[in-house]
Amino acid sequence: MRSLKDFARSKSFHVIYLNTGSCNGCDIEILASLSPRYDIEQYGIFAHQPNPREADVILVTGPVAEQWEEKLVSLYRKVPEPKVVVAIGQCSCSGALFEDGETDPPVSDYIPVDAKIPGCPPRPQEIVDTLLQVAPRVFKGYGEE
Ligand code: SF4
Repeated sequence: MRSLKDFARSKSFHVIYLNTGSCNGCDIEILASLSPRYDIEQYGIFAHQPNPREADVILVTGPVAEQWEEKLVSLYRKVPEPKVVVAIGQCSCSGALFEDGETDPPVSDYIPVDAKIPGCPPRPQEIVDTLLQVAPRVFKGYGEE
């Protein structure tokens, strides 16, 4: 039987976002998705969950700086199943400008990625649309026998 927690999780989810060394351009677009214009919370998406153990979706920006390599995997393991990972921006998808240097992209080399949003940076509407497409697919029916 489905618990109240599972039911709530299938209707609304919490997002943790990790900046693995971005220029902050993508992070500003994530913050813009919280603004009244895009209002991501109207869809039941709580977009600022700092605790990985209470998160459902991981948004990752940046090209994975050296000091993030182990931390990224460790934080990924702390998020309970089922979970969704979305790589935001060209840096996290492929490395873009930062392909050579003190970084080792892409994010998908470290953790499984469910969706990629390319762009430098992607627009807030693309972030909202991708979350609405990918996350409900994973959480729909979660906890049902
Ligand atoms: S994709 Fe562009 S905006 Fe995003 S972190 Fe990389 S350089 Fe910055």
